[in-house]
Amino acid sequence: MANELGLTVKPVSGITPEDEARVSAWIDTPEYREKNFARQALVINPAHGCQPLGAELCAHGFEGTLPFTHGSQGCASYYRSTLNRHFREPAPAVSDAMTEDGAVFGGQNNLHEGLENAIALYHPKMVAVFTSCMPEVIGDDLSAFIKNARQKGFLPRELPVPYANTPSFNGSHVTGYDAMLLSILQTLTEGKKIEGRCTGKLNVIPGFDANTANYREYKRILDAFGIPFTMLADISESFDSPNDGNYRLYPGGTPLVEAADAVNGKATLTLAPYATLKTFPWIKENFSGAHASLPMPMGIARTDALLLKLSELFDRPVPDVLKAERGRAVDAMTDAQQYMHGKKFAVYGDADLILGYVAFLLEMGATPHHVLCSKGSKKIEKDVQALLDASPYGKGAHIWMNRDLWHLRSLLMTDPVDGLLGDTHGKFAARDAKIPLFRFGFPVFDRVNRHRSPIVGYTGAVNMLTEICNKFLDLVDETCDERHFEMMR
Ligand code: SF4
Repeated sequence: MANELGLTVKPVSGITPEDEARVSAWIDTPEYREKNFARQALVINPAHGCQPLGAELCAHGFEGTLPFTHGSQGCASYYRSTLNRHFREPAPAVSDAMTEDGAVFGGQNNLHEGLENAIALYHPKMVAVFTSCMPEVIGDDLSAFIKNARQKGFLPRELPVPYANTPSFNGSHVTGYDAMLLSILQTLTEGKKIEGRCTGKLNVIPGFDANTANYREYKRILDAFGIPFTMLADISESFDSPNDGNYRLYPGGTPLVEAADAVNGKATLTLAPYATLKTFPWIKENFSGAHASLPMPMGIARTDALLLKLSELFDRPVPDVLKAERGRAVDAMTDAQQYMHGKKFAVYGDADLILGYVAFLLEMGATPHHVLCSKGSKKIEKDVQALLDASPYGKGAHIWMNRDLWHLRSLLMTDPVDGLLGDTHGKFAARDAKIPLFRFGFPVFDRVNRHRSPIVGYTGAVNMLTEICNKFLDLVDETCDERHFEMMR
């Protein structure tokens, strides 16, 4: 074989171009799909990250908090770079860089030395410790290590150091988020419950949500109601702080005093039931006031549910400004209905998100034809099915639990849809299937400012439909013949 200079080159592999073409066509067939779905011990391109990644996001949501990985440096770099590439912001966090000797003798020395150095260098108000796979595999006892660190004087007496075991061979980034949030709240609120005290505030938990504008949208809605609130694990400033020429190591985050006093709140509301599977039951047992769990408010009905719940909890009418917003969102959906109605979509991602996508698509008269969750469960499946059953547009939709994006590719090639909703990792399947990918999930590396545009609330519904419908209109303009290139669409 010769290259373009006429020089003889040795092929890297013996596979001929004909063989490549044959296999490339074969992986698009129903026959390959059957083999693909028969695989059991291999995951290819999962639609989730590992537990510590979620723990780190959660830790960034608290004032002055240094996320601390007990484990490998490489793992810590993965979480930081994922957050860093998604938000295009620094993700300041440290690790105790366990290596081979730590794997053999245990990582206590790494942890103690790491904590001492990190506290001396970065002066955090709280250190949130979580684990990568390695210390979990060798059975490091985090609880004992941190107790020993206190006894040996590596930790200042008053410094809160919540910690969470986040083994990545289990669960996903959402599980890790939940574990870290639980530990932070348990640590900060310990001994802070005061009989008869009520902050008068609503504690809001957005869950694993990497859209900073969603947090702002919740705040805007609460301000419109005039409801005082504490947003727990508030990353809106941590990952979207103003560029004013000054670098801040710990911008934003829920003030620690407020988080501690949340235990005396008037009410606590989680907007991400699947990201608070452990935290919320604990809150119900331990926090004063009312407790409510609502699905992520995507689409009209789910936003209505949020506003009605706020109205009920704080005995206030839904503000006129939000009623008007609802009307405008319904109008925008009606105007755009024709571009989505009857179209088929595939959606994938975290449970709270896919349930939101499904609810929104059904409201637009579109069919969520494939609903895929790579860390699924019977309960998620049941929740998705209930949504599908409640709408005529849910008929014939398929739910795929514990399947990955390589399975999704087979689905798209053999049972096609018009568009895909998810995160950047689906772009390969979308390109092969020649359909647009709407990037509403996490992470999004290949587009700018997705996290600055809310997808919750009435505003979120308008944003989502605008992005989807305009893309379909662009496609028509780009592909239609001269006769059909119209001003009006
Ligand atoms: S899955 Fe385990 S080894 Fe891989 S990055 Fe996550 S913590 Fe590290």
